[in-house]
Amino acid sequence: MSSQQIPYKIYLSEEEMPKYWYNVKAHMKNARAPFINPATQRPCSKADLRAVFCDECIEQELNDTDELIEIPQGVRDFYKMFRPSPLVRAYYLEKLLDTPAEIYYKFEGNNTSGSHKLNSAAAQAYYAKKQGLRSITTETGAGQWGTALAMAAAFYGLRLDVFMVKVSAEQKPYRKEVIRTYGANVVPSPSETTAAGRKILKEFPGTGGSLGCAISEAVERARETEGCRYVLGSVLDHVLLHQTVIGLEAKTALEKYGVTPDIVIGCVGGGSNFGGLIAPYMGERLQGKNEIEFIGAEPASCPSMTRGKFAYDFCDSARTTPLAKMYTLGCGFMPSPNHAGGLRYHGMSPVVSQLYHDGYMRAVAVEQSKVFQSAVMFAKCEGILPAPESAHAICAAVDEALECKREGRKKTILFGLTGTGYFDLGAYKQYNDGTMTDYIPTEADLAKGFSTIPRCAVNEGLL
Ligand SMILES: *Cc1c(COP(=O)(O)O)cnc(C)c1O
Repeated sequence: MSSQQIPYKIYLSEEEMPKYWYNVKAHMKNARAPFINPATQRPCSKADLRAVFCDECIEQELNDTDELIEIPQGVRDFYKMFRPSPLVRAYYLEKLLDTPAEIYYKFEGNNTSGSHKLNSAAAQAYYAKKQGLRSITTETGAGQWGTALAMAAAFYGLRLDVFMVKVSAEQKPYRKEVIRTYGANVVPSPSETTAAGRKILKEFPGTGGSLGCAISEAVERARETEGCRYVLGSVLDHVLLHQTVIGLEAKTALEKYGVTPDIVIGCVGGGSNFGGLIAPYMGERLQGKNEIEFIGAEPASCPSMTRGKFAYDFCDSARTTPLAKMYTLGCGFMPSPNHAGGLRYHGMSPVVSQLYHDGYMRAVAVEQSKVFQSAVMFAKCEGILPAPESAHAICAAVDEALECKREGRKKTILFGLTGTGYFDLGAYKQYNDGTMTDYIPTEADLAKGFSTIPRCAVNEGLL
């Protein structure tokens, strides 16, 4: 079919929506390394994980063999409210760039939480309810995850405590109100309600908090509350699995018009939207069925893949979680206050890390002011005000489209537009005022972070 016939938006019917998530691990040549219990230096047992996570999520976390995992009807019922998400041919962006490339994007910001995070929040809340739990806890930094989970907890009837990094709760009071409106309890972290919080407050009175501290508080609350578990919005395999609904819908929509991308691009924080977008295409690539190029776009200020180490590290800065083998800047790495809050994470999904390590994808690091230039260009021509996180993918896609123009080659580019930027207007203000800065960590900054990667048996030879 000629490109002339491809509509601006490709729609899917309810019938065409995925009924299974896609488990890319079933096709990986090298499985991701197991999680390690830091106390024993042995792989984590299911029992280790059960005290903290929901049973079904643990099953999915450890499932390396089933290619397709059914999306329960109860989750599909919730998905119907905001899915399928639009798959858009970016005609106006193509025209503006005057590129021979065809550009498509999958837009996940069409729901009240404003991001793709609702895809996993729905599944995790559903499983918690099905297990007979009464409440769940989590942390949120930028606030998107807390909002998504509050919506899902309200829908399935669960109590939710959101430990929100105190500075973030103060900087984004309206984000906090959305969470409260959906009935969740927002606890600015560090708080007096947990031992971990009280300890930090005693040591650092007046601190604005950190994600690491908020995680410790949320995990402690889950461990100590009857019928309560902790849920996480990125990094883990089951979160990535839930996000494959993005890639599956995109692939179905493009196949209606016989389109296969040459390049698939996503922004990477913990790796869940990127992993979910690329999964069905990556599964085929791993089986030798395509030659698609995959590109993860990360901030130059927090370059976990382009400059990090592939080693075992804690998933939180408070060093309370199991050890995961991933690309990391060190659990004690302090990223600069870059505006893409959702990409300010020291590590990376172990699955994405393994695929990167094995050479199946590339990573690029992009600087903040260039990211905002792309964001503003995109807002003006395609109409959507992107989240700063999402704009990293736009920026990388624009670079690829301009490369096509230089080479006079037509390529088909698909990228993930993860969310909207209405709660990031402080960042847009800085950009508009010309006060935005680019901070790139020095080798010395990175060395300081690397020194916080645990020196333990499983890291022998990796550091
Ligand atoms: C959280 C977030 C991200 C990054 O998270 P991943 O797990 O890497 O996908 C990207 N974009 C938006 C809008 C987010 O809220």
